[in-house]
Amino acid sequence: MKLSVIVPCYNEQGSIEEFYNEISKFLKKEKISYELIIIDDGSTDDTFKKIKELSVNKEVKAISFSRNFGKESAMLAGLNYAAGDYIAIMDADLQHTPDMLGLMYNKLLDNEEYDIVCAYKENRYDESKLKKILTSCFYRFNNLVSDVKLLPGASDFRVFKKCVKDAILLLPEKTRFLKGMFSWVGFNTIYVPYMPNERFSGITKWNLINLIKYSIGGIISFSNKLLRFLFVLSIPLFLIGLFNFILIGNLSHRTIILYLSFILLFFGVLSLYVARMYINILNRPSYIIKEMVGFNKTRAK
Ligand code: UDP
Ligand code: MG
Repeated sequence: MKLSVIVPCYNEQGSIEEFYNEISKFLKKEKISYELIIIDDGSTDDTFKKIKELSVNKEVKAISFSRNFGKESAMLAGLNYAAGDYIAIMDADLQHTPDMLGLMYNKLLDNEEYDIVCAYKENRYDESKLKKILTSCFYRFNNLVSDVKLLPGASDFRVFKKCVKDAILLLPEKTRFLKGMFSWVGFNTIYVPYMPNERFSGITKWNLINLIKYSIGGIISFSNKLLRFLFVLSIPLFLIGLFNFILIGNLSHRTIILYLSFILLFFGVLSLYVARMYINILNRPSYIIKEMVGFNKTRAK
């Protein structure tokens, strides 16, 4: 089979049927052999019921999680079970269109040298000013401190070869940041601009707090530069302290306050890395599957 399309879903009861209709119509018209791996990421609405109804179609395979584990875990489950020579990741809300998928897939087929085709948002017209500013700060900061550079606006909407999927599945970390992993594993990536459609139904699952957590997680996943920066900063601070102590004899209140605030900053950054190590040492699975439907149609893993 040629193409595996991975679709993470969280409370998408209003979109998933329409998504299926559009994507299957398109892929059949294009005569592309495909499977749809739909992951219900612990939805609290009727998403899984709808997905089960869709699974009477032979291309549909469904996985439901025991609770909401997050889009990163849903994408990982999709990658674990995808059997195609090419793999695509798309949102269920029709913001990523089948036409665009076709364009990206054909780009991959037509250019032997490319391994990954990634859609990026050229224009963030659909986002609030605050989100735009924060996103731009994130990319600047990430590209400054992280060893893994990210193209601003790059999305999870990608089509790639099986070898890329295999490489990504070699990375064992528990807190996953797929955009960074794609960049880390290398391969040849071509970026194509796209305009996301309006959401077909429901609301976005992202809020400001989630975005900030996701961004910080992304940065510490691929860089220990923040830790090294603290170490470098601590040397002049120590010397200034010593100088104060020896030459002046007493430390002014201001210096003490400055020191305390730096110590707090140090602990803050340290705790991020310690928390990450803790999660990885626990070695818990990234998701728990409650039910799988449709996998015995071809291959199950
Ligand atoms: N999603 C998911 N688990 C989550 C949150 C989101 O599987 O915990 C899915 C969601 O159903 C959608 C995709 O991830 O198919 C992107 O989410 P959303 O549309 O809310 O994000 P946005 O497009 O607004 O960035
Ligand atoms: Mg969306």
